Amino acid sequence: MQALTFQDLNLNTPLLNALEDLGFQTPTPIQEQAFSSIMSGRDVVGIAQTGTGKTFAYLLPLLRMLKYSKQKNPRILIMVPTRELVVQVVGEIEKLTKYINIRVAGVYGGVNINTQQVELNRGLDVVVATPRRLYDLVLRRAIQLKSIQKFVIDEVDVMLDLGFKFQVTNILELLPENRQSIMFSATMTENVEGMIEASFKAPEKISVAVSGTPLENIEQIGYKLPNFNTKANLLKHVLAENETYHKVLIFIGDKRIADRLFDSLNSEFPGEVSVVHTGKSQNYRLNSVQEFDAGETRIMIATDVMARGLDIEHVSHVVNFDTPNYPENYMHRIGRTGRAERKGRSILFTTEKEQNHLEAIEALMQMKVPQHKLPKEVKISKELIPEERPRAIEINNPNKESEEAGPAFHEKKDKNKKVNLGGSYRREIAKKYKKPKTRGDKNANRRRKK
Ligand code: ADP
Ligand code: MG
Repeated sequence: MQALTFQDLNLNTPLLNALEDLGFQTPTPIQEQAFSSIMSGRDVVGIAQTGTGKTFAYLLPLLRMLKYSKQKNPRILIMVPTRELVVQVVGEIEKLTKYINIRVAGVYGGVNINTQQVELNRGLDVVVATPRRLYDLVLRRAIQLKSIQKFVIDEVDVMLDLGFKFQVTNILELLPENRQSIMFSATMTENVEGMIEASFKAPEKISVAVSGTPLENIEQIGYKLPNFNTKANLLKHVLAENETYHKVLIFIGDKRIADRLFDSLNSEFPGEVSVVHTGKSQNYRLNSVQEFDAGETRIMIATDVMARGLDIEHVSHVVNFDTPNYPENYMHRIGRTGRAERKGRSILFTTEKEQNHLEAIEALMQMKVPQHKLPKEVKISKELIPEERPRAIEINNPNKESEEAGPAFHEKKDKNKKVNLGGSYRREIAKKYKKPKTRGDKNANRRRKK
């Protein structure tokens, strides 16, 4: 297929000129595919690796469709997980709108909310925001979302991993029904699926295959194992060969299991192991990664989202302590080894429950992962960890698995409940500490705090 240029897309002159100034000639695959989908007005979910140009993939069609207007309320809302990303996306918009008259504002926490309120009050077309600050501004009525026609959530998996589900869900409910929703992510997770199901209308899914993965460079093997303890036994057995296994990155989807494995490995290899996930402080995370990268620690345990942005060189082995539900995640994981012409090695642990995940991975790669037998020296454990023990869940119990996307979305549909949540929490705290003597005191406190 002949490569498209930006000229071939239905762009307008101001956008084409801006792209030319940037020196960009050909759209990336995700940009090419997303353009017509988004232009069609449908809801769109786009999945592509980091660095594939997802920002322009949604900005180009959205800016192409945006008409000049003097209206005060924003028409495009772009939500991203961090303030750094707000700044970055606003910067990208400014580059693209060099020849277009457009009003853009970025809002994020950690800076004076009043200043932002004043800025928003002047009227604008596009808002780029982190969920928490945006929600605070909505509660203050500093921003009206009723005119939003286009809504983008970028890096949605990171957003959910950082615990923004409450804010995101509430904001979604305030948006007009007839909006177009667009979501971009580097990976698909169960939480993301849940959010799509709850708030997207028959979205078109665009997924750009993980490209250029040097599969030939990576030797993959797999083990079928029954449970956590047996996996840990095998891992300790292989890790004992510390010359071969000199820089080992272990992936685990669940952070509680990650902590559990850390405790288990740390007792066997004290000082050689670290664990990073979003529950750890920023400092701890940075130090752990630096030490691992520099070779000061030999083994690092990481959750998928945490490891995404890391650029670590010369990983000798990637261990998949679980088999990811989404095959793309497996590709991201093993892509951490075998970089830059080096031979990489990957080990995959699969339980019976995960067998279908393994099949999905093999289908994506169009190859089988060779399965190895458990070495005789490794003990098969029958002891289950709490997460593996069967739970007696009552059928139709509305409280079951309240962490999952489905029921939680449901609960929050109840608007009164939602608004009262903060208040009742404050009331409870107030009762406990007997602080505000009267209603007036309490309200005054609240106003001053914000
Ligand atoms: P992602 O969100 O997928 O991680 P970004 O949107 O941040 O990727 O883009 C990564 C980099 O690629 C940015 O520096 C961006 O300016 C650049 N880029 C985007 N589109 C193109 C293109 N069509 N041609 C060349 N460079 C591009
Ligand atoms: Mg991005």
